[in-house]
Amino acid sequence: MGTLVDVVLYGDKEVLPEAAGLAFESILRVEAAAHPSKEGSSLFRIRQGKGVRVEGDLARILDVALEVSRATSGAFDPTLGEVVNLWGFGRDDPHLPGPEKIVRALEGARYDRVLTGQCCPEGLDIWFDLGGVAKGYAVDEAVRSLQDSGVKAGIVNAGGDLRSFGVRPRRGYWKIGVQDPENPQKLAGVLEIKEAAVATSGDYQRYFEEGGIRYHHILDPSTGYPAHSGLRGTTVIAPDCATADALATAAFVMGPEKGLAMLEKWEGAEGVLITEDGTILTTSGIGEGGIRFERREKTSD
Ligand code: ADP
Ligand code: MG
Repeated sequence: MGTLVDVVLYGDKEVLPEAAGLAFESILRVEAAAHPSKEGSSLFRIRQGKGVRVEGDLARILDVALEVSRATSGAFDPTLGEVVNLWGFGRDDPHLPGPEKIVRALEGARYDRVLTGQCCPEGLDIWFDLGGVAKGYAVDEAVRSLQDSGVKAGIVNAGGDLRSFGVRPRRGYWKIGVQDPENPQKLAGVLEIKEAAVATSGDYQRYFEEGGIRYHHILDPSTGYPAHSGLRGTTVIAPDCATADALATAAFVMGPEKGLAMLEKWEGAEGVLITEDGTILTTSGIGEGGIRFERREKTSD
């Protein structure tokens, strides 16, 4: 999934090494299921309109993706595969595509053609890209595996998309840094969570420059171009990481007002949104339910 995953675990010394191994195996299993273009895979056959009855991990990922797509009127759209592929994000040669190619690729991107996570009848050719939700789901599966192995508490962190479980010994809570999009080596603030998932989307994570313009990897499904919504970073806290991941991508596309309103409405979700001018917006539930956010003062150095 193009990222490093680390786990911190608390429990019996005898069970931890094997438990960690199994957790990483479940991440690899999800990665294989969600990969869009592995020949012969379910997603590959769906792209060819072959008619595939989806189950297991993939069906669960699609269910979350479609729930968020519908609730955000398609700001999150897992059917953008052809457009994402055109831009080449995730490969080593991303580039600005011609406008007519974007228009053509965008015609296939219509989440509302997919009715259920079991998906796709014969003749319905959909090019899924689950890059905005699969990493979160992989984190959830790793946590599930760790709990099944008897690990008491821990945190699984896939490059900033993370989930904690159990009660952390001594401190009781986890501190999670929220990067400053302006200067990602620094923190805009620090979150404190107990048992929760946190996912971040930002324009500073994956991008390239061409003709002096910066193009990042979160696309506005209404244009096929990188979203310019007024936000630079969105961090979402939710009970599970798949939902947090998809909601963070969606809120980024929706922008400060609509994104914040959507997160306020979403049962169990909270958010920290950072705008282009550095303003930090938070949903009203932060400060309650075991979630705290502390801003870091900007220093001049
Ligand atoms: P990251 O992968 O860096 O954690 P995100 O979770 O925001 O970041 O996911 C971005 C990825 O999701 C893109 O690389 C692309 O594969 C896919 N994507 C881009 N725009 C959208 C969108 N509007 N809806 C759903 N998926 C998207
Ligand atoms: Mg995401």
